[in-house]
Amino acid sequence: VIERPNAVIDLGDNTSRFGTPPAALRVFADAGPGDASEYPAPDAGALRAALAEVHGVPPARVVTGCGSDDVIECAIRAFAREGERLAFAAPTFSMIPEFARNQRMEAVPVPFLPDGAWPVDTLLAARPHVLYLCAPNNPTGHVPGGDLERLLACGAGLVILDQAYAEFAGRMRIEAPEHPRLLVTRTLSKAYGLAGLRIGYGVASEAVIGRIGRVRGPYRIGRLAERAAVAALREDHGWAHAHVALARAARAALSAALEAAGFRPHASEANFVLLPLAGAAAVARRMLALGVRVRAFTGLPGSGDALRITVGPPPEMDAALRALAAATGEAADAVALRRADR
Ligand code: PMP
Repeated sequence: VIERPNAVIDLGDNTSRFGTPPAALRVFADAGPGDASEYPAPDAGALRAALAEVHGVPPARVVTGCGSDDVIECAIRAFAREGERLAFAAPTFSMIPEFARNQRMEAVPVPFLPDGAWPVDTLLAARPHVLYLCAPNNPTGHVPGGDLERLLACGAGLVILDQAYAEFAGRMRIEAPEHPRLLVTRTLSKAYGLAGLRIGYGVASEAVIGRIGRVRGPYRIGRLAERAAVAALREDHGWAHAHVALARAARAALSAALEAAGFRPHASEANFVLLPLAGAAAVARRMLALGVRVRAFTGLPGSGDALRITVGPPPEMDAALRALAAATGEAADAVALRRADR
């Protein structure tokens, strides 16, 4: 548990609340002046090699970027032109409609089916030039069911499968169908606790990686960020694994406590829990005044107003539950967190 006296507990961005990989911190302690004055490697070759090893693919099938945000946006730029369609199941990652706007593409949101599955037929009927899929999905936290193979087989454009939270669903390694038009993206911002370094990556066919590489340009990853990321991937896999286990236990405890308090959180496979709640924006503002930041959504398809709470160590979850209870006007002792066995 990291002490942050008098600071806001930030449960708004789904970053790691369980610390930082020690090997990455050692790299910063050992930094020299050249790390600031010299350019990094143009295409982060050492990082690509480390990622390729983790996922059992050749380095030529890996692209890196300044966060997976950057990888996704470069991919969209590489594959789509003005006026073309970017389809996605809604609600999903809030940057996706913005990326569509930046590219002057038409965003085509299609609500998930009532059981949470991909709306396969409607997505295919949109004939998207780029199809964005997110699993576990942000902000719902669920892993959608439905026929991914069919989505891949029928489309003609790029399919992005965003796995930013896959480690929290028990998938440390990428397990996705081999497909020439599929790009799987991941990040070191979540399970690896390195959001401040801004490191994301994608794995795809060599053809897709080559095309993204041409719009990506050189020098996306700073020298220290690359070295720290490589150290974390090579030496701190065990740390990441342990962090994920803690986050999963915290998720179960938070969901149980919310249910015990009469809320109906969505079942989550990510490091956050979505809680449908009328007037969520006002509740979030009151929680922030009490020292806990969470993310509020208004009018989400299928959920309405909702709060998204990043999971963290038990003291942070206790604080979040107390703030939620106070902000929703309930007695704080009615929502004491049932701690997971650790
Ligand atoms: N995809 C999803 C689904 C996310 O929630 C986020 C961050 N919130 C990202 C991608 C981007 O993460 P980053 O740029 O830090 O890799």
